[in-house]
Amino acid sequence: MKKRLVKIALFSLAIAISSCQEEGKEMENVDDATESSALLAKYTPVRLTTDLAVLTDRQREMIPLLIEAAQIMDQLFWQDAYGDREALLNSIEDPDLRRFTEINYGPWDRLDGDKPFIDGFGPKPLGANFYPADMSKEEFEQASGQSDELGEAFTSLYTLIRRDDAGKLVPIAYREAYAEEVARVAEKLKAASELAEDPGLKTYLVARADALLSDEYQPSDLAWMDMKENAIDVVIGPIETYEDKLFGYKAAHSAYVLVKDLEWSQRLARYTEFLPELQKGLPVPEQYKQEEPGGESQLNAYDVVYYAGDCNAGSKTIAINLTNDPEVQLQKGARRLQLKNAMRAKFDMILVPIAEFLIAEDQRKHITFDAFFQNTMFHEVAHGLGIKNTLTGQGAVRTALKEQASAFEEGKADILGLYMITQLIERGELEDADFKDNYVTFMAGIIRSIRFGSSSAHGRANLMRFNYFKEQGAFSRDPSTSTYRVDFDRMAEAIDSLSEKILTIQGDGDYDAAKAMMERLGRLDEQLESDLARITAQGIPTDIIFDQGMSVLQ
Ligand code: ZN
Repeated sequence: MKKRLVKIALFSLAIAISSCQEEGKEMENVDDATESSALLAKYTPVRLTTDLAVLTDRQREMIPLLIEAAQIMDQLFWQDAYGDREALLNSIEDPDLRRFTEINYGPWDRLDGDKPFIDGFGPKPLGANFYPADMSKEEFEQASGQSDELGEAFTSLYTLIRRDDAGKLVPIAYREAYAEEVARVAEKLKAASELAEDPGLKTYLVARADALLSDEYQPSDLAWMDMKENAIDVVIGPIETYEDKLFGYKAAHSAYVLVKDLEWSQRLARYTEFLPELQKGLPVPEQYKQEEPGGESQLNAYDVVYYAGDCNAGSKTIAINLTNDPEVQLQKGARRLQLKNAMRAKFDMILVPIAEFLIAEDQRKHITFDAFFQNTMFHEVAHGLGIKNTLTGQGAVRTALKEQASAFEEGKADILGLYMITQLIERGELEDADFKDNYVTFMAGIIRSIRFGSSSAHGRANLMRFNYFKEQGAFSRDPSTSTYRVDFDRMAEAIDSLSEKILTIQGDGDYDAAKAMMERLGRLDEQLESDLARITAQGIPTDIIFDQGMSVLQ
């Protein structure tokens, strides 16, 4: 009975998609004497490797070039987030504190609401280092409002804002501010393109090099979406805007060097084909399942061999959804990248220890990576099920449900992912899978997500589900062992009834019902809170850091 990747249960791993803010919040009470080692203990190190034997010689030769390009993005992200890396690190004597500073790309703790952890530093500027620290929003708006042209340059994803000699605000294009660095990155990408055997990859690498030199990213984004047969991938450039908490205008430098898991990617493409049939079978009245399920997204699995910059700061991303360019999305759809070895690391280092502590002993055998991976994957596929537009003439579900929309959409994807897995197992499509693994792993995943994300959409979705499952008897808590046990039959029923509730609220665009349901079920009760505190007291880490680079690759 070999079970390779197939046992999972759906789970809200979207969680981990998590960004730093979602995963903050613990370890408030750090004793001074042990402060730096306690801070560092939030993270546990993991070797980031993959099987390079599956690659051709030329593909293997590309990897060091791509890692070198990524390392330059790492330097640029220091500029985005803080400024002079060397000066800061050289000023810190305590090695643990220095390491913690490197992990955070600055003196502010990303898992604790950007709280400063080095004496002499105040709160992190909302605009990080993209803007002058002394600039007010009003000053920015006044300067950028002088003409359309200036407005465009000031709000561009790809400019820094600085003061000129007279103290006046000026935008500086990344390609000029970082001319020397982007020239070196472009050189590495072009050298890698020479080695590329896949024509799509070759085109993309050249286009991406040009993008870094010109700050025009659209052609390379289009080339990236067109590239489908490549075994190697690199996501590189200024990409997400979360680091700019002042306006959300500025893109931060980031890079992932990736090796595609072709086997899993093919399987995912096959499962996507079941969407129309599964849509018809949803446990909800006919009118709520009349839309064609969306298959517009590509979904692939990868191992990451290098993280750099933005994606490596604080909490580590385990799934990516790109591109962000709406015009490219309209033309080509989007691509979701599931980062399998990073997921594995979070599973081993965080989910399993939580389960060993809080799941009933005889059910711990059902905690499996395959189940965890399936739950995460099918969460992504399940975003395509259900309904996107209200039946009540209120337009898109997303608009009608306002600030509740994300939590309901994530909650839907979690629960319908589990529904899909159950259905596919019944049809014999998920060989070797055991739904019990999916359910128990799902349960442990809920607890993990709540722990990391009570302020995020994913966290709220998980809390709502936890309380709903509790009401329905989908699990029980044994006070003598302080552990949770899944009731499989009742969980199956709860999956159906919760799916129906969420889909109905979405289809009706019923904001009041959404809000009321969240208010009733989105509460952390004392019991759960104390169980979560016990996990933290156990020293179970919050996140992972990577031991990575050519030296750890086999
Ligand atoms: Zn999601």
